[in-house]
Amino acid sequence: MLDKVVIANRGEIALRILRACRELGIKTVAVHSTADRDLKHVLLADETICIGKAPATESYLNIPALISAAEVSDAVAIHPGYGFLAENADFAEQVEKSGYIFIGPSPEVIRLMGDKVSAITAMKKAGVPCVPGSDGPLGDDPKANTQIAKRIGYPVIIKASGGGGGRGMRVVRSESELLKSIELTQAEAGAAFGNPMVYMEKFLENPRHIEVQVLADGQGNAIHLAERDCSMQRRHQKVVEEAPAPGITEEMRKFIGERCARACIDINYRGAGTFEFLYENGEFYFIEMNTRIQVEHPVTEMVTGVDLIKEQLRIAAGQPLSITQEQVQVRGHAIECRINAEDPDTFIPSPGNIDRFHPPGGMGIRWDSHIYAGYKVPPHYDSMIGKLITFGENRDIAIARMKNALRELVVGGIKTNVPLQQRIMADENFQNGGTNIHYLEKKLDASSK
Ligand code: ADP
Repeated sequence: MLDKVVIANRGEIALRILRACRELGIKTVAVHSTADRDLKHVLLADETICIGKAPATESYLNIPALISAAEVSDAVAIHPGYGFLAENADFAEQVEKSGYIFIGPSPEVIRLMGDKVSAITAMKKAGVPCVPGSDGPLGDDPKANTQIAKRIGYPVIIKASGGGGGRGMRVVRSESELLKSIELTQAEAGAAFGNPMVYMEKFLENPRHIEVQVLADGQGNAIHLAERDCSMQRRHQKVVEEAPAPGITEEMRKFIGERCARACIDINYRGAGTFEFLYENGEFYFIEMNTRIQVEHPVTEMVTGVDLIKEQLRIAAGQPLSITQEQVQVRGHAIECRINAEDPDTFIPSPGNIDRFHPPGGMGIRWDSHIYAGYKVPPHYDSMIGKLITFGENRDIAIARMKNALRELVVGGIKTNVPLQQRIMADENFQNGGTNIHYLEKKLDASSK
């Protein structure tokens, strides 16, 4: 097993990684900014190192500081968590070049999947279903581009190959807007991502977001751990996630899961990863791969019983997968509500001192969070302060438990989105399952009128 790991992240995921390390007997090094001295995992870690000032660019995104932390602490590996540098191929490369293990796939694979055009090309080759599209970057021949759009059929979407975070995309509904839109997206992509390359896809009007969790050991073994539905979103940010996805049959799960697992072998993938799909009219369409652990990984853990972070650590230590595909069984249903420090109506962040705190409890309740009474939520980072996860033998029980848990959770002194989560849990269409990615925004729009 690994001897000592640097946790290059903060908040709940840093604590989650620390707990997994502890279970495996791995020593931990918590790196933190000057604003994060009181983070729970910093208080619990074997060693702590302050790596810089509060702004992430001066701490959690500071590559030399992170590598120095591994050096001075004599660690053997770095876990990037999610966000920050987790999908930064240059970081992975520098970690490896400095003689440390990057807990994730190789820099080459991060690069391959980080570029959307190359990712789609690789997935098509591996037999993963993709959105009908330009099959490569758009050139500057207006006639050819008009032809491509005609073949795909309007509406189409122009997307930046180097885009991310829901930016660098433009929907085109008719031929008259096409060429101008391509130019605009190219210019924006060049400025925002340093890469003007764009491609074209069919725009799906009312899809769901369904994603497949995979694990691969880089030694020829790859498995899928079923799917999650993350369609409840606002501004491309997931708000509620669940596993399995409502209405997905065992056959569909097998169909899409096997293709993802095979694609992992094809691209020489190593570690935990997620294939994201849009799902419409019974069809899956690949949009991108996340080459890291995801926020919503606990719902998969709850229904499969597999500890994904421990698997990441084992794989990084050079061990083969501890489970086979046949051993992965989906049991029951799990739901996750992201709990954010924000105004539930305006969504304006609400940092500050938590003066009272009571976590929910009881059967089937999991609370992944770093907060405690007296903890001060800093204003510098993402507003997520915890993840409330419930499990039940079926979806109705998981929802009933979530309602109880949301009622029990007390976070005093700051505003949270708990009231919004309660509205979602009480929503009849959510309760029926299978709402699409526009549902939440439409619901919010309707209620603000
Ligand atoms: P990013 O890396 O910026 O998150 P994605 O390719 O994952 O980019 O797309 C982000 C979101 O944009 C998707 O979750 C979906 O809501 C929307 N989107 C992307 N491609 C399409 C498409 N072909 N049709 C409809 N919506 C799309």
